Amino acid sequence: MKIETIAIHAGNHPNSEGKPAIQPITLSTTFEHHPEEAYIYTRAANPNRKSLENVLAKLEGGAEAAAFSSGNAAGMAVFQSLPVGSHVIAADDMYHGLSKQLKELFKGILEVTFVDLSNPDNFKNAIQPNTKLLWIETPSNPLLKISDIKALVAIAKSKNITVACDNTFATPIFQNPLKLGADLVMHSTTKFLGGHSDILGGALITAKVDDMWEKIRNVQHTGGAVPSPFDCYFLTRSIKTLPYRMKGHLANTTALAAYLSKHPQVEKVYYPGLPSHEGHQVAASQMNGYGSMLSFCVKGDAQTAEKVISKLKLYTNATSLGGVESLIERRAAVEGPDTLTPQNLIRVSVGLEHIDDLIADMDQALS
Ligand SMILES: *Cc1c(COP(=O)(O)O)cnc(C)c1O
Repeated sequence: MKIETIAIHAGNHPNSEGKPAIQPITLSTTFEHHPEEAYIYTRAANPNRKSLENVLAKLEGGAEAAAFSSGNAAGMAVFQSLPVGSHVIAADDMYHGLSKQLKELFKGILEVTFVDLSNPDNFKNAIQPNTKLLWIETPSNPLLKISDIKALVAIAKSKNITVACDNTFATPIFQNPLKLGADLVMHSTTKFLGGHSDILGGALITAKVDDMWEKIRNVQHTGGAVPSPFDCYFLTRSIKTLPYRMKGHLANTTALAAYLSKHPQVEKVYYPGLPSHEGHQVAASQMNGYGSMLSFCVKGDAQTAEKVISKLKLYTNATSLGGVESLIERRAAVEGPDTLTPQNLIRVSVGLEHIDDLIADMDQALS
């Protein structure tokens, strides 16, 4: 089946009284004991979570998926499943909430090296005898750097290193890391999969059910950072329109990137869909679309960037991404004083408003 069909049908198992067309929300936390015992207690499994996990696994071409209460909880489950003393290699521009986990929560438990993964040699050179996990994030935040998943997997496989990829920016519509050889995919479903800025969630998808996956399942069940049946229901509902939302996001972002690259007040545009982007070739080889996140630097300083943001009417100055509404923020302000992000950089999550309105608003703000 094609992705549009999977998105609509793989998460829908109406199996109850009256034959509803849409699966109802099963709020019950407990289930009557039964010889087959499909469900016992909602922390371990729930029909809505099962449907959500089914559609997530199918979208990424994986064997199974595990849903969590946030993207951070999903990432943490991977780190918690590693033996104590393991060495992790991660992207130096890894999502800050997850690098914070590694630096603070896993201090003394895991060893970590952060490298620029857009050059696979940096990964090769950082490998130690106890390296157990490579954590990729591509495209990355906020410079939209691209890592070559296949090239990194080839190096990792020769050393028995598990490869996990944070696929939040790309979505399963534009990139499937498992098909490129990765072992695990992670999503913050809060972003494009939820798509309406009203659900917090995370997910892991595995290529195969192995020891590592059994450990991750145990962290999910026993750790208990699971989404509610209500959240699972809404996320499954959102996913039905994901393929079509991504087509609209992509068309708008392509047009906005082209507009910005020609604007005299714009110093530089970071979007992997632009041939001028450093990672364009690799992105073209491993993505079906370049996503809908872009960053640009205005000519000027932090204040100039803040001024542009304050003049915008359609783009909300807020963190997060992936909703139908356009969001904008000056990343350096969010990342704090030791950030390497240029002070005049503005990140945009391009929404689904009409592109003419998005460009007209940007035009008046930049003039
Ligand atoms: C938001 C985000 C996360 C964390 O997800 P939460 O749902 O906020 O916990 C992880 N990775 C990336 C790339 C993100 O954008």
